[in-house]
Amino acid sequence: MLEIKDLHVKLEEEDKAILKGLTLTVEPGRVHAIMGPNGSGKSTLSYVLAGREGYEVTGGSATLDGADLLDMEPEERAAAGLFLAFQYPVEIPGVGNMTFLRTAVNAQRRARGEEEMSSTEFLKLIREKAKSLAIDADMLKRPVNTGFSGGEKKRNEILQMAMLEPKMCILDETDSGLDVDAMKLVAEGVNALRDAGRGFLVITHYQRLLDHIKPDVVHILSDGRIIKTGGPELALEVETEGYTDIVAEGA
Ligand code: ADP
Ligand code: MG
Ligand code: MG
Repeated sequence: MLEIKDLHVKLEEEDKAILKGLTLTVEPGRVHAIMGPNGSGKSTLSYVLAGREGYEVTGGSATLDGADLLDMEPEERAAAGLFLAFQYPVEIPGVGNMTFLRTAVNAQRRARGEEEMSSTEFLKLIREKAKSLAIDADMLKRPVNTGFSGGEKKRNEILQMAMLEPKMCILDETDSGLDVDAMKLVAEGVNALRDAGRGFLVITHYQRLLDHIKPDVVHILSDGRIIKTGGPELALEVETEGYTDIVAEGA
């Protein structure tokens, strides 16, 4: 499903390579975690997959179900079933959260050749999903993420994901800045979406999120490359030993 091969990425503005030959395949139904020290390129990977400006792909490929992601506009990537929850979710002043979600859900349905959701159906679904993420009616009415706390923004990202039912979900440090209760809500939201047809790439600096979202595979990213791959035990190794030894071993 998500297949990244020998991906090289540099900043457009400077001659600075960030991803230096990253290879990774996420199969349907599986949760892959990417862990790594600060500055290793984790967010860059998620931005490049989402199609954010400012990065130049200098080599390699990234496909979703065989379709070239890097060749698509950001909206086309979303229509193809890719979803990204960002480390720093953007505020969209002036656009109500519920209106935004309804537009996004219907755009995706049209892209898939499906009928739009009726307002009754949409309201029922959003109320149910919002409730499980402890998102109240007020948060649904306010402009997207505007004035939301860090935890509210992250829960709102998971609400978007739950409403869009993407094929491939990428979460970039969704746990950063969350207290334990908020993190559990986020993890439950993710776990509820785990499904045989859906893949996840969970990017995190800390192991604690992976206590709640059990990964099938754990990768360590360092200086733009995956230097080690293992099972959930690799995350525990990071927790007890830190990154320094693992990075030195992989170098
Ligand atoms: P991580 O998410 O693993 O902490 P990032 O992908 O955010 O790492 O950053 C990787 C490296 O690229 C860092 O050295 C960072 O400073 C640099 N970098 C990323 N984006 C930019 C940018 N827009 N301008 C300058 N440096 C950047
Ligand atoms: Mg960082
Ligand atoms: Mg980051």
